[in-house]
This record gives sequence, structure tokens and C-alpha cells, in this order.
Amino acid sequence: MKTVLVTGASKGIGEQIAYKFASKNYNVIINYNTDFKNALRIKNDIETKYNVKAITIKCDVAKEEEVKQMVEQSIKEFGSIDCLVNNAGIAIDTLFEDKTAENFRKILDVNLVGAFLVSKYVGEYMLKERSGKIINISSTNGIDTFYPMSIDYDASKAGMISLTHNLALQYAPYINVNAIASGWVETEMTKDLDEEFIMEEQEKIFLKRFAKPEEIANVVFFLASDEASYINGEIIRVDGGY
Ligand code: NAP
Repeated sequence: MKTVLVTGASKGIGEQIAYKFASKNYNVIINYNTDFKNALRIKNDIETKYNVKAITIKCDVAKEEEVKQMVEQSIKEFGSIDCLVNNAGIAIDTLFEDKTAENFRKILDVNLVGAFLVSKYVGEYMLKERSGKIINISSTNGIDTFYPMSIDYDASKAGMISLTHNLALQYAPYINVNAIASGWVETEMTKDLDEEFIMEEQEKIFLKRFAKPEEIANVVFFLASDEASYINGEIIRVDGGY
């Protein structure tokens, strides 16, 4: 049986990725940072609905020692990690004038350094197995959609795209490393956006709506599947047309 490690799986897109893989017979490692209650709810629900094992692991992906321990615990529990989804992420939108170096670094630490650290420690095991899939959840904000209110977030997501290309090269020819450049998705991250701003953004999307988290999870699973065996070092936009 295969195993997936999903970072930031206690809600939103990560939660739906966990469910998708469980429904396809993967054991699931549900990483969370603060929301143990929700992570536990997801674990119990997955184990009730599907014939797989799910575990929760608390780890701040920005902290190297915690990442090391999470990966060691995962390997101890399941023997291997076949797929890693670097999904954990934060955004702190503020006026450009109020941006501080401290906040900028915090976002880079979680979104970018975190994805690097988890990939590094999981990658070691995947290389031993000579197989594996890594999927990074980036954003169209990292390519060509810009908001000065989230200049730090956008930079972190652009960094994830470079990380994807570099890891695909570093881990060649054994591990496929790809990224999804997601557009707007209905999650906690976007629930407090100004109503008028949401309407304006939806108007710009060809499908006239934000994505459901499941619609991102479906593409993540495709990238992890044998159907996508020749896709590598690629950035797939999932933005409804924008
Ligand atoms: P969300 O609902 O806010 O969930 C974020 C998840 O990340 C939570 O499970 C949270 O865990 C976890 N997390 C935050 N900091 C962490 C840390 N230091 N270590 C480990 N986990 C951490 O966000 P979402 O909308 O589902 O976003 C998921 C990913 O998709 C993010 O990388 C985001 O940038 C990306 N994305 C989102 C959108 C969108 O419109 N929503 C668009 C493009 C890309 P706890 O709650 O347990 O702390």
C-alpha cells in the first residue's frame, strides 16, 4: 500500500488532498501546525470511510528539527513515503506600506523554506527507493498575477516554482517533481477577503467562480498517478481561466 505525506492537511486544500489519496487506497500522513482538533477529525473520518491508515503529525515545516522528526516518524510508521505534497502555506495581506522584513521572512520561511526542508528529508528516502513523487502547491501569484498586498506571499510562490525545477533536476531520474499554480480557491485563506474584491476577481475568471479545494486535489492526485509518469519539472495552472 502506498503512503502520502500532505503538509498543512488540517483544513482547506490539504484536507481535500488527504481525502482524495485515502479514497485511492493510500495511507495518509496528516501534517498540521496548530489545528490538532481538525487534523484528528480528518484522521478519524478517513479511517472510518476508507480501508487505510491515517496518522496526524504536528510539525512546523519552517523548523528543521521538527521536519526531520516528522519524516523519521512517518518512515517508522509506514516504511516509505511514496508521495509528498508540499501544501502548507500562509498569507498575511497588509498594505504595502505596512510590510515588514519580519513578516516577509516569516512567509518565506513557511511557504518556501518549509517546502525545501520537507522535500530534502523526504527526498533522501525516495532516492533510496529510487522512486517517488513530489507535488508543490504554488500559485498563479508566483507567475503572473500580482497583488502588492501579498508581495511576500507572491515571492514565496515564485520561489516554489524555481524549487520545483531545481528539485526535478536534483532528483532525476528517480523522482517526478511538479507544481500546481493554483488560482483562487474557497478556503479559510480566502474567506475573509473583501466581498467587492471577490466579485471583481470572480469576474476575471472565465469560469466566474473560485475553485473548490477538491478541484485542486484532483489534479494533485493525477500528478501522483502513473497516468502522469512523463510529467516532470512542470508547473500546471489550475485557475479556471483567468
Ligand atoms: P488554509 O485553509 O489556510 O490552510 C493552510 C494549512 O497550512 C493549514 O492546514 C495549516 O495548519 C497549514 N500550515 C500553516 N502554517 C504551517 C506551518 N508552519 N507548518 C505546517 N503547516 C502549516 O489554506 P489553503 O487555502 O488550503 O492553502 C493551502 C495551500 O494552497 C497554501 O500553500 C496556499 O498558499 C496555496 N494556495 C491557496 C490558494 C487559495 O486561494 N486558497 C490559491 C493558491 C495557492 P494549521 O491550521 O494546523 O496551523
